[in-house]
Amino acid sequence: MGDGMSARKLILARPRGFCAGVDRAIDVVQIALELFPGPVYVRKEIVHNRYVIESLAKRGAIFVEELDAVPDGAVVIFSAHGVSPEVRRQAAAKRLQVIDATCPLVTKVHLEAGRYAKEGLSIILVGHTGHEEVVGTMGEAPGSIQLVGTVEEAERVEVPDPERVGVITQTTLGVEDANVIIDVLRRRFPKLVTTSSGDICYATQNRQTAVKMIGADAQLVLVLGSPNSSNSRRLREVAEATGARAFLIDDASEIQAAWLEGVTCAAITAGASAPEHLVQEVVDFFEELGVKEIEEVEIVQEKVTFVPPPELAKEMEKRGAAR
Ligand code: SF4
Repeated sequence: MGDGMSARKLILARPRGFCAGVDRAIDVVQIALELFPGPVYVRKEIVHNRYVIESLAKRGAIFVEELDAVPDGAVVIFSAHGVSPEVRRQAAAKRLQVIDATCPLVTKVHLEAGRYAKEGLSIILVGHTGHEEVVGTMGEAPGSIQLVGTVEEAERVEVPDPERVGVITQTTLGVEDANVIIDVLRRRFPKLVTTSSGDICYATQNRQTAVKMIGADAQLVLVLGSPNSSNSRRLREVAEATGARAFLIDDASEIQAAWLEGVTCAAITAGASAPEHLVQEVVDFFEELGVKEIEEVEIVQEKVTFVPPPELAKEMEKRGAAR
């Protein structure tokens, strides 16, 4: 590969890859496949990663876009991105046995939306149009939530009472992009209600902080993740903003020789839904090219874990599954 390849050093960001919400969601599908004798349906991609989906589908999970593709009474898992109350109503009408793998940090945002709506606030959701998490959160208070994705939209958004506005965000935004938008909203609505810690999750923040650090030393940053993974796309953008060339790849086979031209130091990270073995394959790739110096830069140790959804835990107990 590429004559211009002169990389001598490889830096690995840490934390990278699976977060607690993704770990839990994948576990939920695996446990459900072992536990239930009949078919297990999953509404939408359980997490946004091609490899994860392919491996769970191979083990028997049936992925569907909407609940009308699920037979009445069947077992269905909701993805980590969450669902709107309307989807829960459809599931109840079809008497589906629901296992909810919504990440607890997404649920937290849903609860905030519900609380703000109850308090009579107009809600502004900062997020990306069409993303599943955004669709689910908007559904919590369809009459009260408006979506804002850019600074321009933040400048234009109108509310009935500028003194009664609350803001929530998608969990996987770029931290700095979100801050700029929220600053505009705060200027326009000085009494803007926010939560003290914000809604961008710990995993998104840590991965962005880590990639910023490694991006400063590398000319090339490779981000493992699928194109529909929001947090992976943001990681690529944050890496690029450090001045490095940054690419989002599903696996090592997508690396192009031209990207390596003149690169003496390359860096790798992975989005919250990308499995570690894909990172190791990229490490192997660089080792085969002769890179000997490999350094891992850890900015913080993550210790977050989430318990399984109560409905699954109950089912495990009922069926005497030892886990
Ligand atoms: S990226 Fe954050 S919000 Fe999404 S599943 Fe992971 S921990 Fe939860």
